[in-house]
Amino acid sequence: MVRSAKSSASPIVGPLHHFTANELTRVQERLLAWYDGNKRVLPWRTIAATEPDRNKRVYAVWVSEIMLQQTQVSTVVSYFEQWMAKWPTVGDLAQATLEEVNQVWAGLGYYSRARRLHEGAKKIVEELNGEFPDERDSLVAQLPGVGRYSGSAIASIALGKRVGVVDGNVSRVLARIRGVGADISAQSTSEHFWDLANQLVDPDRPGDFNQAMMELGATVCTPKTPSCESCPLRNNCVAWNRSAEQRQTSISSHFKSNKKSDEREASNIPDIECLPTCEFCLRKEDWDESQGVMNYPRKAQKTQSREEMSAVVIMKCENGKMLLVQRPKTGLLANLWEFPSIALGTGKEDKQEQEMRDVRRELEGKYCLTPTQAASARHISDVVHIFSHIRQTYRVYKVSLDVGEGITWPEHYQGGHWMDKTEFLASATSTAMKKVLKAVDDSEQKVKGKKNKGAFGDQPADTKKQKTISHFFTKINKSR
Ligand code: SF4
Ligand SMILES: [Zn+2]
Repeated sequence: MVRSAKSSASPIVGPLHHFTANELTRVQERLLAWYDGNKRVLPWRTIAATEPDRNKRVYAVWVSEIMLQQTQVSTVVSYFEQWMAKWPTVGDLAQATLEEVNQVWAGLGYYSRARRLHEGAKKIVEELNGEFPDERDSLVAQLPGVGRYSGSAIASIALGKRVGVVDGNVSRVLARIRGVGADISAQSTSEHFWDLANQLVDPDRPGDFNQAMMELGATVCTPKTPSCESCPLRNNCVAWNRSAEQRQTSISSHFKSNKKSDEREASNIPDIECLPTCEFCLRKEDWDESQGVMNYPRKAQKTQSREEMSAVVIMKCENGKMLLVQRPKTGLLANLWEFPSIALGTGKEDKQEQEMRDVRRELEGKYCLTPTQAASARHISDVVHIFSHIRQTYRVYKVSLDVGEGITWPEHYQGGHWMDKTEFLASATSTAMKKVLKAVDDSEQKVKGKKNKGAFGDQPADTKKQKTISHFFTKINKSR
């Protein structure tokens, strides 16, 4: 089970999930050293690092960030180069037509991105004198399609602003190095990551640091095959330490060794949970040994509701009494009264005849209806009811009987009783069964309406003389 914060506003977050001042420095140094030796050379990085004109840097990084929003780096490179060759400045782009822009964009997909770049360029030229804003928040406010992430990336990479970035790669790295076991998609988790990113970003090289975090997530701390052995942050990584601890424990138990793992740096990384009340720790019982560091990040699983289908049969006598049976003492809807039900597979339209045969067979075999009575079973409606993890479809059948005498019920039910509608509504029954009864009522009303309409002058159906049944509900035999 994924731990979710009780309150998205202020979850209890223990010390494990924050950096100490010492750790901040170490992570900055190690990550930047790694980045300097391993970074991919990309055209927008080169412009950001070498172009003296602030406006040109922002323009290049803005274009690259928008292109990268839904497209891989390897695909973006050639598009970026072609774009910059055609429109080297924001002024050039503003003079282009949307058609020309779409032509250059062709193949990248999500054309709304191209339109937003074009709109943004025109806005910069027409409303801001051709000058990009120089703060993250004003970039977000002025440029269409630029949100918190893109604004922070442009501000740090092109303008050297000290703001962190959080994207999917950074979230994964942070979840692992700070052992965040809370649902990664929760608002409170995301806000925590933004806080961490803003603290962690290197004050002198914010753009490089942010790119390094993203690069590490994209190339080393990958979702399925993280290369922890070559990771510059492993000594600061809770996930790695926790996995190392686990490996050490299993080695120790094999070789009776008390040697401590040399992977664990003298830091404040505690063993498992940091505070008993912490809402961000991954609990012991949720740790899957076989997953190692990939225990992080966690995403709340949407519990798939199970599809179930059953037939419910309303056996109704001419005096309005219906057979209700009492469910077993344990399990779902224990002790409640319900209409007799017959389990079905996931019925398909083309299986309806088979289903009808099964229902009739069950009615004859387990409820002792005569073949004629069973053959009168009619499907009248479907009722869907959602239980916590089950989407239950009731296929509602009706059997009209003269009397209920001789009818039995299967032995897994605690008992049976013939009830009229008032008794039924006063008994312990589920909402689902009330829905079923409503469906039966509606169907009967429809039939009545048709009869009254079609047989003008006939005696109304509800005034038809009913047979007198005096004893059927006191003489039910229960077969065992
Ligand atoms: S040590 Fe492994 S899990 Fe931790 S940050 Fe590095 S690659 Fe990711
Ligand atoms: Zn914790």
